Amino acid sequence: MADTRSYGSITVDEQSYKLPATVRPERYQIRLTPDLTAFTFAGEEIVAVQVLEPTPEISLNAAELQVHSASVISQNGRTSTGTIALDEINERAIFTFPEPLAPGSHQLRLTFSGILNDKLHGFYRSTYKDANGQDKVLASTQFESTDARRAFPCWDEPAHKAVFQTTLVIPQHLTAISNTAIVRETPLPGTGTKEVVFADTIKMSTYLVAFIVGEFEGTEPVYVDQKPLRVWAVPGKRHLGKYGQEIGAASLRFFSNYYNYPYPGDKLDLIAIPDFASGAMENLGAITFRETALLVDEHAASRSELERVADVVSHENAHMWFGDLVTMRWWNGLWLNEAFATFMEILAVDDWKPDWQRWTSFSVSRAAAMVVDGLKSTRPIEFPVHRPEEAAGMFDVLTYQKGAAVLRMLEQYLGGETFRAGINLYLQKHQFDNTETTDLWDAIEESSRQPARALMDTWVFQPGYPLLSVRAEGRDVIISQQIFRYLQDGSDLDRRWQVPIFLRTNTANGVQSQTALLTGDELRITLSSPPEWVVVNAGGHGCYRVRYAQDLLNRLTANLFNTLSAVERFNLVNDTWAAAQAGLVPMTTYLDLLPLFRDETDHNVWTIILGSCHSLYNVLDAAQRPALQTLVRKLLTPIVQKLGWSPQAGEHELISQLRGELLGALGTLGDDKTVQAEARTRYAQYKQNPEAVDRNVVPALVSILAFSGGAAEYEEFTTNFKTAKTPQEETRYLFALAAFRPADLFERTLQLTINGEVRTQNSPYLMRSILLNTERRERAWAFLKANWDEMGRQYPDNSIVRMCEGIVSLVTPQLEAEVIDFFASHPVKQGEKTMQQHLEKLRIAVACKQREAANVEAYLRRAA
Ligand SMILES: [Zn+2]
Repeated sequence: MADTRSYGSITVDEQSYKLPATVRPERYQIRLTPDLTAFTFAGEEIVAVQVLEPTPEISLNAAELQVHSASVISQNGRTSTGTIALDEINERAIFTFPEPLAPGSHQLRLTFSGILNDKLHGFYRSTYKDANGQDKVLASTQFESTDARRAFPCWDEPAHKAVFQTTLVIPQHLTAISNTAIVRETPLPGTGTKEVVFADTIKMSTYLVAFIVGEFEGTEPVYVDQKPLRVWAVPGKRHLGKYGQEIGAASLRFFSNYYNYPYPGDKLDLIAIPDFASGAMENLGAITFRETALLVDEHAASRSELERVADVVSHENAHMWFGDLVTMRWWNGLWLNEAFATFMEILAVDDWKPDWQRWTSFSVSRAAAMVVDGLKSTRPIEFPVHRPEEAAGMFDVLTYQKGAAVLRMLEQYLGGETFRAGINLYLQKHQFDNTETTDLWDAIEESSRQPARALMDTWVFQPGYPLLSVRAEGRDVIISQQIFRYLQDGSDLDRRWQVPIFLRTNTANGVQSQTALLTGDELRITLSSPPEWVVVNAGGHGCYRVRYAQDLLNRLTANLFNTLSAVERFNLVNDTWAAAQAGLVPMTTYLDLLPLFRDETDHNVWTIILGSCHSLYNVLDAAQRPALQTLVRKLLTPIVQKLGWSPQAGEHELISQLRGELLGALGTLGDDKTVQAEARTRYAQYKQNPEAVDRNVVPALVSILAFSGGAAEYEEFTTNFKTAKTPQEETRYLFALAAFRPADLFERTLQLTINGEVRTQNSPYLMRSILLNTERRERAWAFLKANWDEMGRQYPDNSIVRMCEGIVSLVTPQLEAEVIDFFASHPVKQGEKTMQQHLEKLRIAVACKQREAANVEAYLRRAA
């Protein structure tokens, strides 16, 4: 859990959280024998170490392990037996030898045993039902950030890179996968087991080690740089691996070319694990995924479900170089690892499917990060991390999305090829080694001869981002900066950023583009003649908001679709919505903007509009909501009628996606009875023949039927969730259960979160969806409080704070008071900072309710 008291000043002795530097590991030989019935494992380990100064002690990490024996063999062949002490609090094992170990090479030999836990970290078990309904068990690993120590004693810090050679002893009918290729597989006569020996890895960090044991089926390999790439799944699901393999091979090729460096592993396996705490994990050569992020039926899945697979696979592949080959020295550098992989993920997917316009849809991710980063409780992208557990608080939207967005901004400012040359230099210089963030800026500066470090420091070490105010005076465009905050308290007003400006102007000399850098309070750019209009943040890559003077704004909106690209329209809506939530403009100004977008066909712009309507729905009282539903129907009906229910011949995939999203919103948020009736008819057709409905419309049918449905639909969706043929169908029907409104059905969904029928990898997210059910939020909140301890026992630690995001819908002063009260006495594992952010978001919504609800009600009455 993040310790907020340590932000901004390095007062804690970082060394006390790190292992002594007197002994360094060089090569591990690990032999493990898992028992999938008793849920235990036995281990033996030989570590070649360098002792740097004489010491009687070897101290390394171990947690939930029993170490049975420890000895050291020195260079001259002398064996020395150590006494074993376990420090459970600091997760360490300390071996003390009768005589100090002399400097030089030694072999540390250990025997140990541990448990295959059910907490989805360390060496853990995952269960599933086979085709005959039989329960099956497999074992997998998840080590990032500090859980390798639960599987074998090790120097569990990213800077202690070493070579790993793994051997697994497993029942003969099972498959074993690890980071490298199998060297040999030998039956052990009379035991029913076999010994699977894997090749040496490259020099790498412990958190990237992986081993997986179970019944797996693999695809035929495809080859990239002569290295085989396969997808693995539990029996019966292999056929869903083709799509993941395609993007896997395409992105691996793309990266090998972009990085100008061949893939560093000797093979690449992508493995779907039925129980998985995060989305996926970039273990070198053996990437593990939750099933929804890898396995998919490309003919049945919606476009956004396919995009999710493409994104996650590309992201993990990008890490094979950035993260695995070159690794952060300590956990403060985690952000760069994740931000960069996110940036590269989009770059690769954009290259693979240019039609998807992935950089335009990245705006939605950037916008999500800017919501959190507009809070007083935000944090800098990089901050000092002392205890490794503090790194757990880094796996959030600021690390991934804001981090990627500032990298994209830098890339666009420097130019793609210049940026890339810096990356190539960085990888060459630091391969097999560890780095600090500054090493990347240094490499980019060396190859670009531009001051990247000074620019990036303002974005990486400062929380928040600026709001740019833009006005024109004659031939001059004047841009000034000030911090953007939803809740203004007058603090941090002196904060300044080095802001890359992407300017497009229309003057008597035509349309022109230029870049500039705003470093102080204000920047004045003189044009050749007075501008007709100006666009600041042209192309939409800037991590800031823009507020135009009224005359400039009027000229932009006068000819919206000709003047602004989709991403620029997105930013206009998004920035105005944020300004209205912050009270910088009246909410009615934002609502006035919406009719201008009736003909909008970009699904990202609609995502913001629909999201804002959802937020307002939560802000309004029950009696005020029907008027908002009327507004939603008025807004959506014309375009929905134009698009119809089925794709036109040759239609763009993004339009098909838009159709599904708009229909879904009209049938739920808009509570449109005609759409609901039609959805029921179409769903009946879909059941007869899945081809009868476009795959992008199916999710809308499911959500509409859940929103408007009763017991019959509930029974059907419950069955569908349990018997789904694909991971996407499974999650689609499961999460739809959260939208049913009848009280008895809602109770059943609540029970599902703790009664063992839903995987603990999904339960917390189901609970989040339940909290977001506006009509039943009070009951959901009471249930959460009553079952808090049970949820803490069952759910993965990293998911609790994500579940709690659902509290942002509890928008009444009384509920807010209850929420504050509850979390004051119920701290959240691994997410103190994020929890503060949820609470501040709720505060903003309640403040918005108190300030705007009556105005919005009056506005809606006039508009009706
Ligand atoms: Zn990642």
